[in-house]
Amino acid sequence: MPDSFVHKGKRRKLVDYLQHQLGISDSLVLQAMGSVPRHLFIESIFADYAYQDRAFPIASGQTISHPSTVAEQSQLLEVVPGEKILEIGTGSGYQTAVLVAMQALVYTVERQKSLFDFSSQKLREIAHRPKFQSFGDGFKGLPTFAPFDKILVTCGAQDLPTELLKQLRIGGMLVIPLGPFEEQVLMRFTKISETQFEKEDFGAYKFVPMLGQTNK
Ligand code: SAH
Repeated sequence: MPDSFVHKGKRRKLVDYLQHQLGISDSLVLQAMGSVPRHLFIESIFADYAYQDRAFPIASGQTISHPSTVAEQSQLLEVVPGEKILEIGTGSGYQTAVLVAMQALVYTVERQKSLFDFSSQKLREIAHRPKFQSFGDGFKGLPTFAPFDKILVTCGAQDLPTELLKQLRIGGMLVIPLGPFEEQVLMRFTKISETQFEKEDFGAYKFVPMLGQTNK
């Protein structure tokens, strides 16, 4: 299913909603979400609803995040074009494509093979390829490519993954939903020095859990 004028029109309405109802003001975020065809990242039976603020099931029991969540997380990253961003939880690849459209150099990790395969193919198809895509455990980050300017976690972590904090440059930011399975708080950690972090919270969300090597 290609992109069409109908999809473009629906995307414009979504951007209008994100800007005027939710107060998203970062023009890079708005422009990226107005350009990435979200309907291509979900099953075709849901395609008509792709530009509503809804999450949908994707492979391996995971979900593509709400557009509002993608917009909020992307804005919290305060992306500057050319920055190196590590994303944990590629999932469908939609958030990855949004960061690529924001002109970030994206490194992304996914632990489900089916989603790693799906997102790799999709991002190639729509010509929004990240710098590097990895099949593995996001708790470990990608030490070979560190330090990163920003790190985004798109699954809910029970505990703060300290390895990720190590892989941030001084001045860099980690955006991560933190908390128990039922509900997490969206947090932003800014690295002030090797051992000091400024901590901010941005309200309650419900993400799929960040899973370790051993649990399914
Ligand atoms: N941004 C994605 C969100 C997908 S849901 C989208 O909009 O489609 C979160 C993803 O995190 C799932 O695909 C899940 O498999 C993945 N995930 C969970 N634990 C992980 C881990 N330890 N390492 C890497 N990815 C993980």
